[in-house]
Amino acid sequence: MNVSLKLILILLLLGGNLFAQKVERPNIVVILTDDHAVSAIGAYGAKYGATPNLDRLAKEGALFNRAFVVNSICGPSRAVLLTGKYSHTNGMRDNRDTFDASQDVFPARLKQSGFQTAWIGKWHLVSYPQGFDFWNILPGQGQYYNPDMISMKGDTSRVKGYATDVITDMTIDWLDKRDESKPFFVVVGEKAPHRTWMPDTADLGKFDHIKFPLPKNFYDRYDNRIAAGMQDMSIEKTMKLGYDLKMKSDPDRLADSFLRRMTPEQRKKWNTYYDKVEADFLKQKLSGNALTEWKYQRYMKDYLSTTLSLDRNIGKILSYLDKNNLTKNTIVVYTSDQGFYMGEHGWFDKRFMYEESMRTPLIIRYPGIIKPGTVSNQIVSNVDFAPTLLEAAGVPVPKEIQGKSMMAHLRNNKISVRKSAYYHFYEFPGEHSVLKHFGIRTSRYKLIRFYDHKDFWELYDLQKDPSEMNNLYGQKKYQAIAADLKEQLRQLCIENKDEEALKALARNF
Ligand code: CA
Repeated sequence: MNVSLKLILILLLLGGNLFAQKVERPNIVVILTDDHAVSAIGAYGAKYGATPNLDRLAKEGALFNRAFVVNSICGPSRAVLLTGKYSHTNGMRDNRDTFDASQDVFPARLKQSGFQTAWIGKWHLVSYPQGFDFWNILPGQGQYYNPDMISMKGDTSRVKGYATDVITDMTIDWLDKRDESKPFFVVVGEKAPHRTWMPDTADLGKFDHIKFPLPKNFYDRYDNRIAAGMQDMSIEKTMKLGYDLKMKSDPDRLADSFLRRMTPEQRKKWNTYYDKVEADFLKQKLSGNALTEWKYQRYMKDYLSTTLSLDRNIGKILSYLDKNNLTKNTIVVYTSDQGFYMGEHGWFDKRFMYEESMRTPLIIRYPGIIKPGTVSNQIVSNVDFAPTLLEAAGVPVPKEIQGKSMMAHLRNNKISVRKSAYYHFYEFPGEHSVLKHFGIRTSRYKLIRFYDHKDFWELYDLQKDPSEMNNLYGQKKYQAIAADLKEQLRQLCIENKDEEALKALARNF
């Protein structure tokens, strides 16, 4: 053996040794729900939701009060999570686009570095996942009862049970069969609590004893806010008695296909409950505000009931980690693809850059890094998740990623991640008629530019007006603040290479 070969061998042995001494890499579980409002989570101060398992996670980790999405709509939000890039960069601007799953997604980098990776449940990106060891997904929005699931072979089969249980059981089964010599990364893609808020039969009627107070701005008339006045997402006009609230007497009723999927046993329990609700409803002959308020009560009951199963199933995953001695070395991220309106402004749904839908729940438990019981008031964005998890896994963050790693902040709550959050929504004309807009959210202010079909600005002082009822744009007192925010927004557009937004800004007024 010559000298240089010996030297190489010695170096290899040393290298191997150094690697063995390295800290064990953490496993990563991301639980991604759909349309879960912070106002429905106990840890965030919800009065009515029952979320003991999410509350436990917050107690053992960090609760983020200022976590925002960059585009408040299902598919695009998942694309942002996967790529760490804004919608205009990853190409998934609205739900009608098809995600190019062959692009650089961070789970593929985890897989290359030795993680076992999986995505189970709602995917909603039209194309199939790429770069995962395992996936099993709901087609499109998926179904609550006995959902169809698409396997890696591309075939679809119907799985008996309630979607949230099915997705969790499949996740636990995958975890059970994994190669224990490798770290794992799994996304649990929940369907709940997405419209049409169909609760598990076990949870029907759980909120019937509660009369939910109306949000203060339930009867918002949208003065001084053009886009808010144009939307089609109100409980009064848009929410359907049949499709959304399960009343069979409504000609536009819950699609028969939803009920036809149920087993006779499931259907019997379902009908026993909703037939009684409907008989009572018909007896009342409601109209006007009384009808709108009845719809609001039913909406709250159905929505919150779906979150009971959600929390229960999160509990199953946490117990699995406990029982298998994995809790200590597993990062658990709980988040939603965006927030949701629970009657604020009279609405359900999302899309707007206003707080209820731009804000998303975010709870991270990371033993040894995050101090239990941490509450973060720093601005973070869902574009930051990919670089954060890559860094946590010890995998280099590619320079093309537009988000910022939150790791320094997770170690020290005082270190900020970003000064502001950027937002851009594209789907107009589209379902719910929300105009295209982009904007900036700082710790105190929000500046929004609506563009294309109508061109105008909105400005909110979130300290004085957290419900965003008072558009201050154009007021003399706020001219300097608006000008400063506009400049910050322009800088963000340049930094993020958002050409469409820059084009709109060029038409300044
Ligand atoms: Ca969603």
